[in-house]
Amino acid sequence: MRVTILASGSRGNSTLVEGGGARLLIDAGLPPSELERRAMSALGEPLGKLDGIVLTHAHGDHVGHAGPCATAFEAPVYLTEATRRSAQLGSLPMSRVFGPRAPFAIGGLEVRPHPVPHDAPQVALVFAAGEARAALVTDLGWVHRELIEHLRGVGTLFIEANHEPTLLASGPYPPEIQKRIASGAGHLSNAQMAGALTALAPGLENVILMHLSQANNEPHLARRAAERALVRHQVEIRIAAQDETLSVEVGPPRGQLSLGIPGCA
Ligand SMILES: [Zn+2]
Ligand SMILES: [Zn+2]
Repeated sequence: MRVTILASGSRGNSTLVEGGGARLLIDAGLPPSELERRAMSALGEPLGKLDGIVLTHAHGDHVGHAGPCATAFEAPVYLTEATRRSAQLGSLPMSRVFGPRAPFAIGGLEVRPHPVPHDAPQVALVFAAGEARAALVTDLGWVHRELIEHLRGVGTLFIEANHEPTLLASGPYPPEIQKRIASGAGHLSNAQMAGALTALAPGLENVILMHLSQANNEPHLARRAAERALVRHQVEIRIAAQDETLSVEVGPPRGQLSLGIPGCA
């Protein structure tokens, strides 16, 4: 499986997931021409025709270009009923509704959604192709135990590290927006992200920090929180950016590749 972040942050989100013979775009937060340009620079090949566009939730930075992307990439849009009903969503040429807890497959790529708390109905997604597992978890106010159980066994985790509370409190946003971001229906802080990593650490191999706020976070603070949580584990930590692409190869779990090496289970 290969996962390529084309954009991550409050000005637009889109990630390409390729595996099991299928190619899916997760969220459509940028115009198709810009996504094509970024795919060319990241992968050396155009997006062309896709097998699906999966929407996580109906906020503009995730669905703002869903209709044009569906047309340009000739792809059906997969979304929950709550997202489909949202006024934020323009008209779509072709859509398929999935349940927020109902796994579905596109080709040999399985998508396992799980609802998470946010101020629009939102899902975290686990992707499975063969033995490879990756998960995309952004736009959530807090991490509940059920989500941790849903993410068990995932080796590569793309997880939100939205803000540092002290920077949020002293930052440029009006008080009501600050309150919304910090609430249980807002976004994950660095400490909340670190708590999730601590709970999942034994199985993690790659962590990619996502959806960092440019106004209310600093990459080095997010990285330090993740490093502290994973200090006893061999996990590669990377940071996604709004205007840079990042491609990650996702293989089978390490334990299945290197049999017999102590401490690698
Ligand atoms: Zn967002
Ligand atoms: Zn959102």
